[in-house]
Amino acid sequence: MLRAAASAAAAGALVAGCDPHRDPGAVRSPGGPKSSGAGHATPVPVRAARPPTRVPGLPVQIEHGPRNGRAVALTFHGRGDPKMATALLREAERAGAKVTVLAIGDWLDEQPAMARRILDGGHELGNHTMHHRDICALPAAEAYAEITGCAARLNKLTGSIGSWFRPSQTRRATPLVTELARKAGYPHVLSYDLDSLDANDPGAAAVQRTVLDSVGPGSVVSLHLGHAGTVAALPPILDGLRRRGLRAVTTTELVT
Ligand SMILES: [Zn+2]
Repeated sequence: MLRAAASAAAAGALVAGCDPHRDPGAVRSPGGPKSSGAGHATPVPVRAARPPTRVPGLPVQIEHGPRNGRAVALTFHGRGDPKMATALLREAERAGAKVTVLAIGDWLDEQPAMARRILDGGHELGNHTMHHRDICALPAAEAYAEITGCAARLNKLTGSIGSWFRPSQTRRATPLVTELARKAGYPHVLSYDLDSLDANDPGAAAVQRTVLDSVGPGSVVSLHLGHAGTVAALPPILDGLRRRGLRAVTTTELVT
């Protein structure tokens, strides 16, 4: 099983991208969610999230899209200050770009309105586990609960479990996590091939440079909500993509 061996090796070697301890943008509202609808009728989702689908010809673990096109996917770890997240979405929309937000379940519990905000902007929404633990190191039952916990939140808020699953604290899923994701309803695992390193808060110029130095057709770029440097870097990144003849599209548009 070459792929399994490669996945396990990669999972062990590449854990820098999504460190939960470096998430200064995370904001816990003391009064709890403002619009959870608790005690009222369940709000009807305006726009349903596209459910996960198997894309024929694609590997189970997706790292990039077609290299002969002009599209890239900007994919975001979904957690942090909702004002910052909204500012980032607005910048994307101003430039006609679409992004993919992989939301963490406990963030959706605190900020349930963000799910609809993301979908209403024409962006894509997916599952980035319930608590962003080191999912590849967890026993199977706990790892599965991390996946299904977030899936249940997404389903309640949007009418689907989200378009994609991305494992937490790792670039690639182990064969076990891949299998658990499939069991939970996600035929693919969304990895990435370009790490912006924005979670380390290196400053907007560094994030911009890291992305634009390496981006090309088909790139799937890992980025994070909740970081001011990322919000500031987005307009020049989108401008740089445009000058290279590239477009930021949803992950689904990239791979289908
Ligand atoms: Zn993450």
